[in-house]
Amino acid sequence: MNQINQINKTNQMNQIRPSILRVRVWMEKPITMVTFDQVSKIYERGGDTITGLDRVTVEVAKGDFCAFIGPSGCGKSTLLNLVAGLDVPTSGDILLGGRSTGRFTSDDWTRIRRETVGIVFQAFHLIPGLTAAENVAFPLLLRGERGASVQARVEDVLELVSMTARRHHRPSELSGGEQQRVAIARAIVHQPQIILADEPTGNLDSQHGAEIIALLRSLVQRFRQTVLLVTHSTTAAEAADYVWAMKDGQLVTRTQHEPVAAGA
Ligand code: ADP
Ligand code: MG
Repeated sequence: MNQINQINKTNQMNQIRPSILRVRVWMEKPITMVTFDQVSKIYERGGDTITGLDRVTVEVAKGDFCAFIGPSGCGKSTLLNLVAGLDVPTSGDILLGGRSTGRFTSDDWTRIRRETVGIVFQAFHLIPGLTAAENVAFPLLLRGERGASVQARVEDVLELVSMTARRHHRPSELSGGEQQRVAIARAIVHQPQIILADEPTGNLDSQHGAEIIALLRSLVQRFRQTVLLVTHSTTAAEAADYVWAMKDGQLVTRTQHEPVAAGA
């Protein structure tokens, strides 16, 4: 009987071993969170064609803080909108977590935005009639979550962005920097893997802008979220691990930065 058990055990081990090996190989490879494969976006307007993005191929790994910098009209927002499924490419493929999005339905994209992606815009886009805490709770309510766990999560993220004391204020009662903090709390409340930030400092003075960028930086360090920041501010881009310079819908050069020390 013991011998039979032993044989069964050995057989089981032989079956398990290849899958352990596969897991090990997978863990050692950096996970690619966002992939663009020859992605173009051409807008048609009144017989004219306008190139938003021109055959962009790029990979952003999990935990990267990546900035895209370039002048107005070079395709920065187009790039972010495509990652969020707010627009569809004219050609090429976009992969999220290694999965092609080419056949995603609008329901798939809605789910991606509710679960995987958090977006921060230049203009904050908070709901005026709701308090800071209610704005932050909104994505969780959309997901059908209710009750004490929602409240606890909202309190947690408001603390992360140092807005606990202002949680009952409405957006009109907050400064621009404070509104952007609330918008960041709302973008991370559902613990997305990817944060997309489109000119998040564009409406802020330099000091508040720097605070917002430092906040995004600290989130990546703590939670290993992947951040794609688009900006035309070289100061903001300096906080990133690396920066892609964009021109006329193309990625031109990639500049690597020194690793940022923990807590910096
Ligand atoms: P950026 O964010 O870098 O300022 P955008 O990605 O918004 O640039 O725009 C890239 C190019 O695509 C610009 O020439 C812009 O005018 C054009 N574009 C963006 N969105 C549209 C649209 N919905 N219809 C037509 N052209 C557009
Ligand atoms: Mg833009």
